[in-house]
Amino acid sequence: MVVILKKDANKERVDALLETLKGFGVDLNYSEGKEITVVGLVGDTSKVDIDTLKANDIIEDIKRISEPYKAANRRFHPDDTIVKVNDNVKIGEGFFNVIAGPCSVESEEQLNSIAKDVKQSGATLLRGGAFKPRTSPYSFQGLENEGLRLLLEAKRVTGLPIVTEIMSETQIKDFDDVDIIQVGARNMQNFRLLKALGETKKPILLKRGLSATIEEFLMSAEYILAGGNPNVILCERGIRTFETIIRNNLDISAIPLLKRQSHLPVIVDPSHAAGIYWMVEPLSRAAIATGADGLIIEVHNNPKEALCDGAQSLTPSAFDTLMQSVKKRVAFEGKTL
Ligand code: PEP
Ligand code: MN
Repeated sequence: MVVILKKDANKERVDALLETLKGFGVDLNYSEGKEITVVGLVGDTSKVDIDTLKANDIIEDIKRISEPYKAANRRFHPDDTIVKVNDNVKIGEGFFNVIAGPCSVESEEQLNSIAKDVKQSGATLLRGGAFKPRTSPYSFQGLENEGLRLLLEAKRVTGLPIVTEIMSETQIKDFDDVDIIQVGARNMQNFRLLKALGETKKPILLKRGLSATIEEFLMSAEYILAGGNPNVILCERGIRTFETIIRNNLDISAIPLLKRQSHLPVIVDPSHAAGIYWMVEPLSRAAIATGADGLIIEVHNNPKEALCDGAQSLTPSAFDTLMQSVKKRVAFEGKTL
């Protein structure tokens, strides 16, 4: 980070500022020129609050050179993080996973039949929403605790670990047997929830917010990591742009970017990005080719009757076809599924 001082700044006030800066635990590089004086801050600047410093009127400007996140930053953790879900399932660095299942848990028959089908096709985890964050309060809100119970039952029957969305920190105790807790796009900046999840050791699937920048996304991961939970999986699920034909734009460039900036596994959700079933397969291919560590895909036994996200859901047979292509491409990338 570089702090640029105003010309002719009062010497005593500059000395006081240098003391404040040292207090952040960084080394200082002071360079006084004819026209401008700059102070370079070397070391971990993640705790330096630029906005507060800018209130000091001897400062002309402050430029951040390194990223404001530390725990999520590959610079400080060069090795890839592998998130261990259970004895058989690991995510990241060569371990590719496919999470599949309905948008929402609707009934025991629906969930168990989809769970068996996706397992048969090669999915490694089962997804299903019990608590649904819907835009309209009049839309189906999920089966809630009954949905959780059905997910645990499907886990018992199929052996597949389960992934489901949490809405509030008050629910954490009810998610004890959930294998991966999903934080949905709409909760990416629910900081109270992120902090509470940071106090657990649960694997967390953190979805990118609808219009979150990469830096905001990684700062949200930072909340969980800084709290002491290293088990964070990032999920690119498409972002809002000016385009209205598709539901969200899958940000393909986010995949190599996140993999470069961070050491965390990156999963791609082509279903919520596309919003329509026929685009799920080509987007999956793109995700694998650009370095994703896995996919999360919506599958429904009867998409036309689905209570949520039917248009983007694959039938079990379409999912099976997709998996044939996914398996080949994952092997081509030298990864294990
Ligand atoms: C979901 O996975 O069902 C979901 C609601 O996703 P998102 O938070 O990405 O919209
Ligand atoms: Mn959905």
